[in-house]
Amino acid sequence: MLKISKADYDLIRWEAKRSYPHECCGILLGNVVDGHRQVSMTITCENMRFDSPANRYSINPEQVIAALKLARNRGESIIGFYHSHPDHTPQYSSTDLAEAHWFDCSYVITGVERGSLAATASYVLTGSEDHKSFHAESIEIVTNQNSLSYAM
Ligand SMILES: [Zn+2]
Repeated sequence: MLKISKADYDLIRWEAKRSYPHECCGILLGNVVDGHRQVSMTITCENMRFDSPANRYSINPEQVIAALKLARNRGESIIGFYHSHPDHTPQYSSTDLAEAHWFDCSYVITGVERGSLAATASYVLTGSEDHKSFHAESIEIVTNQNSLSYAM
């Protein structure tokens, strides 16, 4: 299961809508608590697939390294990635699976239909490079208590 605050969930979906008709992409930091990935921070990234941004995405490796360093400083790790599917369902593609290499991480996909937000789905990458697969997982929107107390 992926646990994510409403703020981070909304940011991911807003990015999907804002980037349409191109794919958005980004990195999720957090911790694994009781077997569930818990998002603490969303890092929006630039889609580097300038040749085919409407149906491919690529995160700059330098941004991944920077995210890894940031995660380490926060006592966390990279627990997932997100991207969008302009005019497609949030079902992962064969390319998504082929290009996924972070095992036990969440791959969040948001569908956008003609500029309007559709569903958001998440898949966990399991197995090994030779035999890998995506498994659908549920997304739980959790209350961001830090934000609430700060607001009061
Ligand atoms: Zn995809």
